[in-house]
Amino acid sequence: MKSWAFDEQAIATHRYWMQQAIAIAQAVGQAGEVPVGAIVVDAQNRLIAQAGNRKERDRDPTAHAEILALRRASQTLNTWHLTSCTLYVTLEPCPMCSGAILHARLGLLVYGADDPKTGTIRTTDNFSDRAFSNHRLPVLAGICEADCREMLQSWFQQRRDGGS
Ligand SMILES: [Zn+2]
Repeated sequence: MKSWAFDEQAIATHRYWMQQAIAIAQAVGQAGEVPVGAIVVDAQNRLIAQAGNRKERDRDPTAHAEILALRRASQTLNTWHLTSCTLYVTLEPCPMCSGAILHARLGLLVYGADDPKTGTIRTTDNFSDRAFSNHRLPVLAGICEADCREMLQSWFQQRRDGGS
């Protein structure tokens, strides 16, 4: 996994999918959700699932983009083993999503911006290295990092400016 994950062709592919995830995040941000988007592709680089955060609209604390994308990918592939898949997400996953990612035995996690508050891939914790984890998760952080971070910051800025 690592040998191809870091070559130039692979980086261009990662950036392509991350831009798709950013587009999803922007759309759900306009619908009043914290803008986070996620995409799952298989080993042949085919789109398997995509989702944006739906927590507010579904009134569901588990309706994060990553959870919804993993669920749809598992349904599409008819297995919860996502060892051949790559998950792209605009923001570093929270404890709930990091846990689900490990449960899915995900092949590769690619994310954009670190989350200094709740990111548990490397920022506030590293779930993959913990005793409770039975999966060593390959991670590629910082793909389209500036785009992901600025999108999130401008969303929160607009919310503040709107007085809500
Ligand atoms: Zn989450």
